[in-house]
Amino acid sequence: MKVSIASPSVELMAMTENAAALITKAGRVCYKSESHATNATAGEFVRKLMTAGHLSVIEHAVATLKFVTDRGVSHELVRHRIMSISQESTRYVNYDRRGLLQFVLPDDITDAAKDIMIAQAESAAAAYSQLVGAGVKAEVARDVLPTFTKTELVVTANFREWLHIIRLRTAKQAHPKIRRLITMAKKILVNKCPEVFDAELV
Ligand SMILES: Cc1cc2nc3c(=O)[nH]c(=O)nc-3n(C[C@H](O)[C@H](O)[C@H](O)COP(=O)(O)OP(=O)(O)OC[C@H]3O[C@@H](n4cnc5c(N)ncnc54)[C@H](O)[C@@H]3O)c2cc1C
Repeated sequence: MKVSIASPSVELMAMTENAAALITKAGRVCYKSESHATNATAGEFVRKLMTAGHLSVIEHAVATLKFVTDRGVSHELVRHRIMSISQESTRYVNYDRRGLLQFVLPDDITDAAKDIMIAQAESAAAAYSQLVGAGVKAEVARDVLPTFTKTELVVTANFREWLHIIRLRTAKQAHPKIRRLITMAKKILVNKCPEVFDAELV
């Protein structure tokens, strides 16, 4: 059985509008310096908060990201607790009937190793199909699916939690697949709010 390979991806679904301005407004309440707030100085104020480690203020801003990855990586991502998550269900989705079964290969392995993984995926897909064909429910047939089965999840977290995830999951010690995924997420977030996501932290 020929299987389909998915590419990991990250998409920004939603984000606090004008996050730097909101963080500035909230932060200035602490110092009663609201009258000094201007759009031009918002970035500078947020950078000062970041340098001071006054990170509770950035919790006022949130971002929702959609990830395409594999079950192994998603298991690592959902270990983070200060977030809301909606994930594709292997209980309710019948991959056989809907043709949704895909796999995510690692980048950093040889072609020979990839061939071994594809053969494993083909075998799992065939077993899944046979089980479903024999009347077994998707929630039971899923047991034959490997860790590198594709999954999709939508994650909403505040900026402080995203910052924490980025720091942990882009570090050298992180698994290469989650490092690649969260590096993509970081690029999106840096582009949208560099004051927070590109900050030099103490
Ligand atoms: C390189 C690496 C290897 C790992 N290896 C393993 C492993 O072998 N086995 C394993 O089980 N896990 C492993 N993990 C997962 C890890 O233990 C954490 O579960 C995961 O990284 C979530 O991060 P977190 O606990 O910092 O915080 P999050 O859940 O993201 O929370 C953010 C922060 O909030 C605070 N916080 C949240 N909940 C609490 C609480 N209940 N009490 C006090 N403070 C809280 C903490 O300051 C925490 O850092 C690994 C993670 C990494 C990055």
